Amino acid sequence: MSRFWSPVVQALTPYVPGEQPQMQRLIKLNTNESPYGPSPKALAAISSQTTDDLRLYPDPEGVSLKQAIAKLHGLNPNQVFLGNGSDEVLAHVFAGLLKQNKPVQFPDITYSFYPVYCKLFEIDYKTIPLGSNFEINILDYAAPNGGIIFPNPNAPTGRSIPRTEIEKLLAANKDSVVVIDEAYVDYGTESCALLLRGNACPENLLVVHTLSKSRALAGLRVGFALGHPDLIESLERVKNSFNSYPLGRLAQAGAIAAIEDQAHLEESSAKVIKTRLALVGRLSTLGFDTLPSTANFIFTRHPKHAGAKLYQALRDRGIIVRHFKSPRIEEFLRITIGTDEQSGELVAALKEILA
Ligand SMILES: *Cc1c(COP(=O)(O)O)cnc(C)c1O
Repeated sequence: MSRFWSPVVQALTPYVPGEQPQMQRLIKLNTNESPYGPSPKALAAISSQTTDDLRLYPDPEGVSLKQAIAKLHGLNPNQVFLGNGSDEVLAHVFAGLLKQNKPVQFPDITYSFYPVYCKLFEIDYKTIPLGSNFEINILDYAAPNGGIIFPNPNAPTGRSIPRTEIEKLLAANKDSVVVIDEAYVDYGTESCALLLRGNACPENLLVVHTLSKSRALAGLRVGFALGHPDLIESLERVKNSFNSYPLGRLAQAGAIAAIEDQAHLEESSAKVIKTRLALVGRLSTLGFDTLPSTANFIFTRHPKHAGAKLYQALRDRGIIVRHFKSPRIEEFLRITIGTDEQSGELVAALKEILA
């Protein structure tokens, strides 16, 4: 702390990402990265950009990438906004769309970056408790609000709601923006992106995606938002008042190739889903209660063993998972789905710990 810090910064509690430990031979199941590599076509496209052209600025609008994303989702390029990871997209969403006179609403248990953005941008917010089974009930969001945001599937619970529920929410909530953060949508959740097609595009729905999870490009930093052109225009205004070149040449080229390689995405997501189903079954045999997940992670607890102790015992065995010291969820572990082999080692370690 220094007297030169602005008052807003003095009051901040920044988001703490899952750790990226440098230890060797570690089983890293704490930040929901893909256990499989990115599309080989994306890697080739990135390599092709390491030329003298790097002296030149990239395309500030990312026109080709927007076209590729629009094509994949059946939208127009003016319905696509690009950012340096979806965290940056979300920051611009809070600044450009959710900073209103009424509080923005999101679940009490959700992506913990949302309240951080609210504090940074001085946005009033109201948290809505999840139901008794950690589910999102859209009827709980009926109060007048300055916007609604939640991930689907939610993080860190992994629970999703069907697209029809979000359609009901849109029908009931016409006077503010509804943002669906679909970071984990490719592991078995219905995407809302198709609601944005054609003339029926709602004027207040924004869908946020990332290439960090199912496309295995967390290190490249690419995310995007999809929505009505008027919503996208607000985000462009914020972006062009902040950083005109959020995506470098490598990122744009790699992202285009990754978006075009849908087969690679489907293959690796299918493997993750298969491993998830098997892991949930094996954990249940060990006495764990796991919330139904449509994500690349599970949220699980053991009725007889404290979450913090399990977290530490796994850590002592070189297996890193995520544990949140927050009310209602401190007995849970959030475990990223790795390879079958990593799952095997996790189950073996847990057997040893429980014994
Ligand atoms: C991982 C994650 C993001 C951020 O992803 P980026 O790496 O910044 O693209 C956004 N929302 C949720 C819910 C996430 O879990």
